[in-house]
Amino acid sequence: MSIQSINPINGETVKTYKEDSTEQIRQKIEAAQVAWQDWRRTSFEERRTLLAKAGTVLRERKNELAELMAIEMGKPLKDGVSEIDKCASVCDYYAANGEGFLKDEEIKTEASNSFVSFQPLGVVLAIMPWNFPFWQTFRFLAPGLTAGNCGLLKHASNVPGCALVIEEILLQAGFPKGVFQTLMIGSKAVKEVIAHPHIKAVTLTGSTNAGIQVAQQAASLLKKTVLELGGSDPYIILEDADLEAAAETCALSRLINNGQSCIAAKRFIVVKSVEEKFTALFKERMAARITGDPFDAKTDLGPMARIDLRDELHKQVLENVKAGAKLILGGTLPADSENDAFYTPTILTGMKKGMPAYTEEIFGPVASIISANDVAEAVQIANDTPFGLGAAVFTADISLGEKIAREELQAGSCFVNTNVRSDPRLPFGGINQSGYGRELGLFGIHEFVNVKTVLVK
Ligand code: NAP
Repeated sequence: MSIQSINPINGETVKTYKEDSTEQIRQKIEAAQVAWQDWRRTSFEERRTLLAKAGTVLRERKNELAELMAIEMGKPLKDGVSEIDKCASVCDYYAANGEGFLKDEEIKTEASNSFVSFQPLGVVLAIMPWNFPFWQTFRFLAPGLTAGNCGLLKHASNVPGCALVIEEILLQAGFPKGVFQTLMIGSKAVKEVIAHPHIKAVTLTGSTNAGIQVAQQAASLLKKTVLELGGSDPYIILEDADLEAAAETCALSRLINNGQSCIAAKRFIVVKSVEEKFTALFKERMAARITGDPFDAKTDLGPMARIDLRDELHKQVLENVKAGAKLILGGTLPADSENDAFYTPTILTGMKKGMPAYTEEIFGPVASIISANDVAEAVQIANDTPFGLGAAVFTADISLGEKIAREELQAGSCFVNTNVRSDPRLPFGGINQSGYGRELGLFGIHEFVNVKTVLVK
């Protein structure tokens, strides 16, 4: 069996990789377990130094890594460079804060000493998606390894080059062999990895369907999981919002990574009195983005990551149009659609409950505009979703915006007057069908630890 890198701008196979055999998988798991026996005893000083070095290596190699992403999944070079910088920043963040986050917490009891100690769990399997091939992985590995765990990466099958280079970067930074390894496997082989007794926990970033399957198996073996899954983030635009600024931010958020982001804005819920004006401004911003070759500096949006994903997206658009939605921008296949994965920014208006995009995740550059009579209805529509990853509200009334974000919106990250984005300092994750658990910040590093109580009489 093989795994291939396929260039989404021309459909050509860039490189073919041989899948790991059952024996190779077993050897890597064993090597991780052996490495863990030493890694868990390393000092924070050592871990901090290695993590900081990983940040340096990332910065030194960022152009080459951005090129790899452009070839394997179509990300424009400038966005690839920013992604690598962000990975370096999460290394810096945990190098600076990891020790403090994991220090013992004394709890006064009748005993002579009692405290909580945060101990690593062991070998953690990380199942990652292709959309941010480096960032998704580093936001697990930086806190995960700092906490003293070892990692095994099963990356998405369309980014094998990125998967292998992540292991290489860590070795180049000086991490001991076995602390972080890449498994070259497809999703069918994941079951046997999870079943291995040395695997103590699993983190998966990906679709809700994959999350459910992995969580079911892990639960049957009582292995902890963190699931970062799909989303259909609502952005609410209220009557008093700065419509120009809101339209700009909404277009930016919808088109981030060519719309292939879990926390991209996907549903725009606009109060009726400003719907026409907002829609016109938003359309202007969406139409202004340049779609093209990811290697061209002028390009804002590359192709989608794979032709089949683009075809699936187009099918979703047509289904919504059939159900009564109006297409006011894009929505057409490119001339050479059999050989490239391009899809230009698209807007559907008149979206109503019952139409597929009202509830389904649209993972590409397609925006859905839904109209609401007032604030209460806008919030009700925002929450009328199986997902709960992010949400945003745009209003000049900051205290109302804050109240809606804090108390009303049912999602893991709720922002006011700006786009939802991950940040090493802030916990990130979802509720409902968007998964559970948190990455990043203090909460992220506590996911894969044994919160151990120690008491001395
Ligand atoms: P995907 O098809 O679920 O794949 C994600 C990863 O899971 C890949 O490594 C994939 O391997 C693996 N996988 C798929 N099915 C599996 C199964 N049954 N058992 C074990 N592993 C399995 O998702 P995607 O298309 O790559 O990514 C898009 C989805 O991810 C969207 O829904 C998006 O919202 C979500 N996402 C969420 C976050 C977040 O932080 N919440 C971030 C990014 C993306 P193969 O490639 O080999 O199939």
